[in-house]
Amino acid sequence: MKGQIKTAKDIELIAEGGKILRDILLRAAELAEPGITTWRLNEFAEAEIAKAGGIPSFKNYGPKKNPFPAGLCTSVNSQVVHGIPSKFNILKQGDIVSLDIGMEYKKLFTDTAITVAVGRISSKAKLLIETTKKSLDMALKQVRPGNRIGDIAWATQKAAEDEGFSVVRDLGGHGVGYEVHEDPFVPCYGKPGTGPKLQTGMVLAIEPMLCEHEYFLQYEPDGWTISTKDGGLSAHFEHTVAVTDYGCRILT
Ligand code: MG
Repeated sequence: MKGQIKTAKDIELIAEGGKILRDILLRAAELAEPGITTWRLNEFAEAEIAKAGGIPSFKNYGPKKNPFPAGLCTSVNSQVVHGIPSKFNILKQGDIVSLDIGMEYKKLFTDTAITVAVGRISSKAKLLIETTKKSLDMALKQVRPGNRIGDIAWATQKAAEDEGFSVVRDLGGHGVGYEVHEDPFVPCYGKPGTGPKLQTGMVLAIEPMLCEHEYFLQYEPDGWTISTKDGGLSAHFEHTVAVTDYGCRILT
């Protein structure tokens, strides 16, 4: 558990970076209109991170042979996470796109994601986005000292399955703050009362990933993009939060 508990001072700095990052994400999301490329969204996000004095923490992340090439992940429709922005990927009416962004700021890391509609979308896609957001809200309600990771995981899963959606098994949230990814792993599914205990000072990236149909995943040939195997839609929301004596404090 070493390193998982952040000092009060570090949590304030994480909150400072988190607020900036969330603002950048929301402004990038406003640009997600029919006709724009995912490349352009990334260009905007990277420029804004630089302006803020931060470093895009996803850029160059991963294996030396094939590092992630961008500061923003753009995952469209059946893509779940880690979609690579591209000049050839032009968003069109009816798409849904998950925008996931991470930043190092004053040596501390935050991580946040949102899924947005491109123009008018189907009612099913709308319900998926709304349910994923609700799933995150329900998960955050479980964040308090003494609760366990399984309580967060269960709340995430229940909100999804109540609406007939599934949650991914192979990916999840994580500790964050001193590094991009830290322990503990925060699954999107689980049983109440199980897993590591939450303590004041822990900082977690909580990120429900919901699928329209089955939760089975596959990698695309680029080695990064993860999509649903059955081609169903997927949505993703994420906040970086701190466990406080009073419950959950959203830092992004
Ligand atoms: Mg994350």
